[in-house]
Amino acid sequence: MLGLPDGIRVCLFDMDGVLTRTATVHMAAWKRTFDEFLRARDPQAPEFSQLDYNRYVDGKPRADGVRDFLASRGITLPEGTPEDPPAAQTVHGIGRRKNELLLTELEENGVEVYPGSMTYLRAAKEGGLATAVVTASANGEQVIAAGGFADLIDARVDGVVTAREGLRGKPAPDTFLAGARALGVEPSAAAVFEDALAGVAAGRAGDFGFVVGVDRVGQADALKENGADVVVTDLDQLLEDAT
Ligand SMILES: [Mg+2]
Repeated sequence: MLGLPDGIRVCLFDMDGVLTRTATVHMAAWKRTFDEFLRARDPQAPEFSQLDYNRYVDGKPRADGVRDFLASRGITLPEGTPEDPPAAQTVHGIGRRKNELLLTELEENGVEVYPGSMTYLRAAKEGGLATAVVTASANGEQVIAAGGFADLIDARVDGVVTAREGLRGKPAPDTFLAGARALGVEPSAAAVFEDALAGVAAGRAGDFGFVVGVDRVGQADALKENGADVVVTDLDQLLEDAT
């Protein structure tokens, strides 16, 4: 009924862009942060684009996103520390600036969920599957609460848990593996739901039973190339396909 292969017992959902309409908020915060940074160094520098976000930033821990995007422009900054102020010209300082913009935006406009994903989440629970949110976001708990679907989630592996347990972020499979472990199943019994290229790559790397790519920005082919078994534009499509 859920559009998943037999033998799948749990669903591991990425959060931003899969359950909540927050990937666009992240993209906007990154764009403002990077464009200000780039312009200060070189007024002719090309702007941070959606493609930059998809390729180098989306789905990754914040510091990895900063480092990987800047490397794509031939820029290396000192790492700094998580305590760096937002104005610091360090990897952590830039990450901090982005997070402040993100939190302001979320506070002002709240967290929107995808109705189709909420329908799917409820159907999964009613079908007896366990669920986890697996996200690089350090604000996972707050966003889930603000989205109003905490009662549909059995386990959470977010940026806070990732840092505490020393897990590698996506595209490494560690955080999804931790999600499967938290729900007491082998990876082969878990389906991964991801909108990021780094996320479907993590699904492939962890040998999960099924990887669903969620295409919100017109990158279906890239999602398939990076590890998605199937690509949908909204999760409730899986319910339609199953009936
Ligand atoms: Mg995402």
